[in-house]
Amino acid sequence: MSPALTAAGARDWLQRFATAVDEHAADLTDLDRPIGDSDHGVNLQRGMRAVLAALDAADPATPGAVLLKAGSTLVSTVGGASGPLFGTLLRRTGKALGDAESVDAAALGSGLRVGLDAVTALGGAQVGDATLVDALAPAVESLEAGGSVTEAAEAAARGAASTDELVARKGRASYLGERGIGHRDPGAASTALLFAALADGDGAGAS
Ligand code: ADP
Ligand code: MG
Repeated sequence: MSPALTAAGARDWLQRFATAVDEHAADLTDLDRPIGDSDHGVNLQRGMRAVLAALDAADPATPGAVLLKAGSTLVSTVGGASGPLFGTLLRRTGKALGDAESVDAAALGSGLRVGLDAVTALGGAQVGDATLVDALAPAVESLEAGGSVTEAAEAAARGAASTDELVARKGRASYLGERGIGHRDPGAASTALLFAALADGDGAGAS
């Protein structure tokens, strides 16, 4: 990630994610229809609108504070499983980043590891259970291994695609058992959008 993520960069990231969620809200809800309750797109849309408003009001000074505020807002505004999970990811990642003025890809990876561990502690899902963890874990591992944000986004997209052939073991989709095979997990798809939005910021300053 060059230049490193500042508070303004973190806000731009979340702004791009909110735009992507708006653009893909119908697709995310369509993914949630056969294996869930058709609300994933709407849930994230509501949450991200609240996040952008909260960031405008609070104007946090560091990337960690931006993610912390965003996460707390998601937890308090999204009722579905995804609110507490995405919210915990951002909140705990933000906390782990502390008060650093800017973070590079490796530091973001270390922070996201703390967020990922909190998500698995909260939801109990591991890689292979057909949840957002299948997109999140490979993206975090890629950053930890020294990968760029573009490589992390590619890892998240591959992880989301891998859920097509998995039997869901957590969340509403798990009620379907084998009938869930052939369906992409909506939370994994939106997590891939989160990392795509991160990668889209790369090259804005330097390519
Ligand atoms: P709900 O399932 O309450 O309707 P959403 O539709 O907004 O909430 O989000 C569903 C997504 O949440 C799933 O696609 C999955 O990725 C994620 N999810 C659900 N339960 C868990 C869990 N226990 N661990 C990790 N992710 C989960
Ligand atoms: Mg749902």
